[in-house]
Formats: sequence, C-alpha cells, structure tokens
Amino acid sequence: MKTATKTGKNAKKHDITYVNNNGYEKLSPADDKAMEIIGKLYINFLGAGKTEREAHDEGVRLLETAGFRDLLQFEKGSAKLAPGDRVYKSCAGKTLMAVIIGKKPLEAGMQIVGAHTDAPRIDIKQNPLYEAGDMALLDTHYYGGIKKYQWVTIPLALHGVFVKPDGKKITVTIGEDPSDPVLCITDLLPHLAADQNKKTLAEGIEGENLDVVTGSRPVSEKGRKEKIKHNILRLLYEKYGVTESDFLSAELELVPADKPREAGLDRSMVLGYGQDDRVCAYAGLKALIDLKGVPEYTSVVLLCDKEEIGSVGATGMASNFFENTSAELVNLTSDGYSELTLKRALGNSWMISADVNALFDPLYAGVSEKKNSALLNHGVCLTKYGGARGKSGSSDANAEFVAQIRRIFDKAGVIWQTGELGKVDQGGGGTIAWLMARYGMQVVDCGVGLLSMHAPMELAGKLDIYMAYKAYLAFLRDGRK
Ligand code: MN
Ligand code: MN
Repeated sequence: MKTATKTGKNAKKHDITYVNNNGYEKLSPADDKAMEIIGKLYINFLGAGKTEREAHDEGVRLLETAGFRDLLQFEKGSAKLAPGDRVYKSCAGKTLMAVIIGKKPLEAGMQIVGAHTDAPRIDIKQNPLYEAGDMALLDTHYYGGIKKYQWVTIPLALHGVFVKPDGKKITVTIGEDPSDPVLCITDLLPHLAADQNKKTLAEGIEGENLDVVTGSRPVSEKGRKEKIKHNILRLLYEKYGVTESDFLSAELELVPADKPREAGLDRSMVLGYGQDDRVCAYAGLKALIDLKGVPEYTSVVLLCDKEEIGSVGATGMASNFFENTSAELVNLTSDGYSELTLKRALGNSWMISADVNALFDPLYAGVSEKKNSALLNHGVCLTKYGGARGKSGSSDANAEFVAQIRRIFDKAGVIWQTGELGKVDQGGGGTIAWLMARYGMQVVDCGVGLLSMHAPMELAGKLDIYMAYKAYLAFLRDGRK
C-alpha cells in the first residue's frame, strides 16, 4: 500500500513512498474466500505428494482430470497441436512439463512458471541394512541442505520404490496410514551429552549417525546369525517380495510422517513437510489447470526434480528435457521442426522461477535486513536477485522485466512484496532461474516465503500461498498485456 505525502505540488497527486503492508489489510472478501479453498486443496496436494515421484504422479492425475493429454500420443501420431490444446510430458516419472498451446506461434515465446518438487530428506543407502546393539538399522545418506539435528527423534515414513532387474517396480509407503508403524533416528540423552553439547550445531549430529532404527525383534531360528536383521528381511520379503540385494536398485526416502495441516489459532498458516518447493509447484499447476480459454502465448508449467542438489541429472533442470520437449512443441505446432524456430521460442520466452524465499523471523532478526525481507502474509515474494556475497551465482532479472511483472501483478490485484535472502554476506542461495536464463529468456524469481525452510516442518502463510496462485495465473493467462 502506498501513502501520499504532503510535499510538493505533484506529489499530492501521486503516491511517492513505498510501504509494504500486511496483505490482510487489502484482501477482498472474494479473495479471502478463494484463499481458503486454495489452502485446503494445497494441503491435500502436499499430503499426497511427499516425494518427487508422488508429487509428479499427483500432478499427472490433476492434469489428466483437467483434460491434459500425454504429449507422447502426439509425438508418435500424425495429429498436430492447435491453440487451446492441453498436453503434458513426463521425464522418468519425476519431472513434469504441462502446456496449454497459445494463439501466437511458439516462435513468439512461451510464458513459463517453473518450480521444483524434490525436497530435502534422508535417503536410504544402496547396501543399508545392518544389525547393531540388538537392533536392525538402515544406513542413510541425506539429500539436500538439512540441519541434521532437526531430523532425529521425529516419526519418519519410508517412501519409494524397489526396481527388480526385470523392470518390475514395487512401491513402498510405510508410516502414512495411522495404523502403520513409523521409523525413527535416535539422539543421545542429555545425561550423557556432555561431549556432544560442546560441539557446534553442525557437528553435533554427524551424517553417518543419521541411521534409522528399523527393528528389534529376532526370528526364532536356531543357528541363524543376525536374527533381528533377518526378521526385517523376512518381513520385507513377505510383504513386498524383495530381498536384500533389491536395495541395490531401490530409491527409498525417509520423510516426516506427519501430515500437513492448518497452523495458528487463527488458522492463517500451513505447517507441513516439503513446502520448498511444492507450495510453488502446486500454485503453478493449479493456475495452469484453472486457466480459462486460450492464452495469447503458450503457457507452460515445469515441475522439476533435483533442484536441492544442483538441478543435475536427467530429471534436473540442467538436463535437456525442457529443450527437447520444446522442440517437440515446435514440430507439433508448425509445418515442421526448425532449430531457428526453437531458438526463437526459447529466447522470446518469459519465465517466473517459482521457488520459495526466506521470511523475516523476529527470533533471528539479525540475519535479515528488514526492509528488503519478505514478511509473512505480505503477499507473494518477487526476488530480483539471489546469490551469495556480491550476487555471485545470481540470475539478477533486468529492471525492464521486473517492471513488466509489476504491471501484470498490479493489474490482476495480486498482493506482492519483494524480498532478498537475508543480509548481504550472511549466506545465500539459488534457484533454477539461471538455467533458464541461459536461453536468453527473461527470468525472475517469485514464490512463497517460508519460515523454517528445509526443516522437517516448514511454515507458510495462507495469504502468500493464494497470492502465488493468483500471480502465476495472471502471468500465464494475461501474457504480456
Ligand atoms: Mn527451493
Ligand atoms: Mn530448497
């Protein structure tokens, strides 16, 4: 909200100061109602997709329900794509690209919202099972940037797949149903923690000590060694038909077993695991699904894997999946593929890199510079640049592009704010923005602010979540108007 000041003749007519107010002060009754609906749908999505694979599958389910068809059908057939057609393409069951073909040729560029669906977690090693102290444990290797001390002594659920050499895939979900058992990583009791207490927070819990207790009951079999471990293998074999060597080709992830839910006595927030970045992923996906009619420019939503470990790998944003799929779109929307058309389509695109940012936390005010920090429920957060130190590694959006985004958001009644990730020289972080900027397209970061980012349970404001949805919808629907 802007406030007029009294100085100067023209100043009277114009708002000349910028004030970042709480979003509830300007939230319309209609938006208030829609916010509660989106909030509930988002909580369902967050609970249904606790891994990148599950978020992908839930995304495909929502897309297919909304009339999106698998692009593979078109790639194999002779039918072309026409304006208004809704398609999606999957990459290895983890990364997803959803598209609505626009009125303009692809050459004019696309409107892209790109988020990621992987989240920090604890992965099971390839040869994980061992017995010690009359317990069976699974050895782990954490994924992404975690504060290790946060992941001990909390209920954990095991999600993932075993894949047999013949290709048979066995899906595992243990710890989500209220009748399921959960797993847990132990920590030292305070009585014996004198040495541990002298260590720093980073060193107090070591990576190799994040092994998860998996069982404690031996099989009753004479002459059998490691009876507790054997009992776990027996249970796994009986339930899933897997043997110890099947861990070699498995992807099993430990995630917090708790469900996402409303938080605060006023229910103004959402507490849940994996909101970085499934909150922006859902807001983007929902915006594309809700887009009515035929957009001017081809609208794209990307839900990527592997962002938390540098976007590498076949399913990460650094792979050619997006470019290859764009080539297919060029081919299917024109008389034939041309590399020049593809390059123009990419270079003329506009993108919102939809990732979370840190919210100002009054308990740790010292790490932030308040007037350039995002505040809870002050709206979706636009971040011109990230990076570390002297903006190192930052994509730093052009002022001209930021101005376009301002206009689109303001016109659509989006409540938004700006926010940097902490004080200068305090740390830093990055998103997939720079990987898309390589094509010469205009990219800016814009997403929901979080408290306790990367913790087992992250906190987000409902107003911010809803405003991300509204912002992405305006960006995709209104194109560049
Ligand atoms: Mn993120
Ligand atoms: Mn992250």
